[in-house]
Amino acid sequence: MNIKILDTTLRDGEQTPGVSLTSLEKLRIANKLDEIGVEYIEAGSAITSEGERESIKQITSQNFNAEILSFSRPLTVDIDYCLDCDVDGVNLVVPTSELHIHEKLNITNEKLIDLSNNAVDYCKDHGLIVELSAEDASRSDTDFLKTVYLNAINHGADRICVCDTVGILTPDSSYELYSQLNDLPVPIACHCHNDFGLAVANTLAALKGGASEIHTTINGIGERAGNTSFEECVVSIDRLLPQFSTNVKINEIYDISKLVARSTGVYIQPNKAIVGENAFAHESGIHSDGVIKNSATYEPITPELVGRKRKFILGKHMGTHGLDNKLKELGLNVDEIQLKQICDDIKDLADKGKKITDVDLQVIADNVLEINHEDRIKLDEVTVVSGNKIMPTASVKITIDDDEILNAGVGLGPVDASINALNDLELFKDVNLIEYHVDSITGGTDAFIDVIIKLQQGDKVVSARATESDIIKASVKAYVAGVNRLLRD
Ligand code: MN
Repeated sequence: MNIKILDTTLRDGEQTPGVSLTSLEKLRIANKLDEIGVEYIEAGSAITSEGERESIKQITSQNFNAEILSFSRPLTVDIDYCLDCDVDGVNLVVPTSELHIHEKLNITNEKLIDLSNNAVDYCKDHGLIVELSAEDASRSDTDFLKTVYLNAINHGADRICVCDTVGILTPDSSYELYSQLNDLPVPIACHCHNDFGLAVANTLAALKGGASEIHTTINGIGERAGNTSFEECVVSIDRLLPQFSTNVKINEIYDISKLVARSTGVYIQPNKAIVGENAFAHESGIHSDGVIKNSATYEPITPELVGRKRKFILGKHMGTHGLDNKLKELGLNVDEIQLKQICDDIKDLADKGKKITDVDLQVIADNVLEINHEDRIKLDEVTVVSGNKIMPTASVKITIDDDEILNAGVGLGPVDASINALNDLELFKDVNLIEYHVDSITGGTDAFIDVIIKLQQGDKVVSARATESDIIKASVKAYVAGVNRLLRD
């Protein structure tokens, strides 16, 4: 069975604490939702503000394939604003639990049904498609819920939706609830919240119970713990539930996920299914080795399916096979002994708590690959005097081709002074320091300092690094290593 999707990123998703989208951002997201194959887009809530109406109008003027809806309470004032925005339909939200009817609205059940029926009539009289959503349906008396739905359907509601407003269903109770409603003569939608982390599971159970439409938000954003996540639901339906399908272009899922994360500023947790940073990343040696041989060993779906790429993370759990693959990607061919040495160096750094990037790998590999070269310059000693009354002064002792040289320099700070002490020397003459990065590997003042530099001489550019507990020593060592590399090439 083909399942329809109502995406409410722009309404329920925007109700995420701290999120407010501009008209342009909303339009971009709506555009992508339409393109990816969502059938219904809830573009906002027309009653909210002038700006909100402006955004909805921009979306309804685009001639999207998707049906554009606005949230609406069962009140003429709300519906009039929806009409003003030229939407195709309304998500007419009617509370059905005792708690909501008696404590929030303070009316009787009979009055509630009147309110609902009149609103449906008003919408239908004005040519709107009506999806009637029962708010807090999962905590409502099922017979009463059914009465509300049947009334609405008799008055012309096109679809109905069962809302688990506070996310208290479980897969079993969700299946149960939808099964009790699946004899209604219109399509049933499912709107779940993730308060117990069960929104996707409950949504899938609802399909089994007879729902044929699901409400989702991109990245699962929404009030409190959020809504049913679009990407998790769509990919689950595609891969795990062969009896169902959707019209979503799955390979564009990552794009829309990133767009929404960027626009809302709600970043995705790294271990989030499908779209999280780590969803297709492997660090463990055993896993990487397996995935390289056959990705199905440790991946239920390929990253390409959802528009992503696989990543091998360098770290202490890494194995040589994954590392070799990564080095080849960087264009580096190494023999077995070199591979082992690079692997050991990385694990050494990882043990100190350092996160290994591609730049780190490049520098480590360069170091290992040049290990047999005899360096012309050797750093013997560096001493710096600095204080708040004197200009930082450094003296360096180095050996160049067996000649011992002592030199001194001053600078703005101790590192600058040390580098200046070297720059006076003939071999260092036209060397330019073009990049200098300092990173503390561990916390605290006893941290290991990692210095990565880039040097240029003529049209040659090299990078070099050094890791020391002393920032000056690390900087000078990296600098000397870089110059040695320039002299060698
Ligand atoms: Mn909701």
